[in-house]
Amino acid sequence: MNFDKYTKFIDILNKDLEAMFEHQKDYIFCKEGCSYCCEYGEYPFTEIEFNYLMDGYKKLNEETKKIIVKNIKNIQKDKNGYYKCPFLIDKKCSVYNNRGIVCRTFGLLNKEADGKVNGPFCGKLGLNYSNVYDKETKELLINVIEENHYKNLPRVFNLNINNFRELDLVKELGIEFGDQKSLEKWLKEYAE
Ligand code: SF4
Ligand code: SF4
Repeated sequence: MNFDKYTKFIDILNKDLEAMFEHQKDYIFCKEGCSYCCEYGEYPFTEIEFNYLMDGYKKLNEETKKIIVKNIKNIQKDKNGYYKCPFLIDKKCSVYNNRGIVCRTFGLLNKEADGKVNGPFCGKLGLNYSNVYDKETKELLINVIEENHYKNLPRVFNLNINNFRELDLVKELGIEFGDQKSLEKWLKEYAE
């Protein structure tokens, strides 16, 4: 499979996301070794993202592949359908360069379909946006933001994959994302 167009898109997306994280740095607490975002989730992937992820997997050494295969067999979903990503090894992503879009945007504020602000999951662990976002009311703490004179205001992004599908760049490059399923479902189909 040829990923030339997709990697072109990912390179541009990465630069944009780097700028977004830098712009929002007063609210971001990501650091090496923090992997809560890969330990509990559904991980929606489109077809091209999943194929790209598996392209990264194929290039791994045999020992790492064995660990991932074992992790896949041991996926335990909870009642929400959430689970630990099988590609997470020793708190690091084993396929980092090939990870999905959802993985690249973990930790930012997302705008839900009803217009409400959805803070990242790790906010309730005292991490991203926990200083300015109330998880219960789903509202930004305007008073706190004003009192602290942060350099930049919190910015809410539309991280829905449908938004990415509609980007001019995606259309210009002619990228087809394909179906969207949870990573666990893709892996199940892949194994069949
Ligand atoms: S998004 Fe949250 S859980 Fe993930 S690395 Fe950043 S701070 Fe940690
Ligand atoms: S693919 Fe990598 S970044 Fe994405 S959830 Fe899995 S371990 Fe985390």
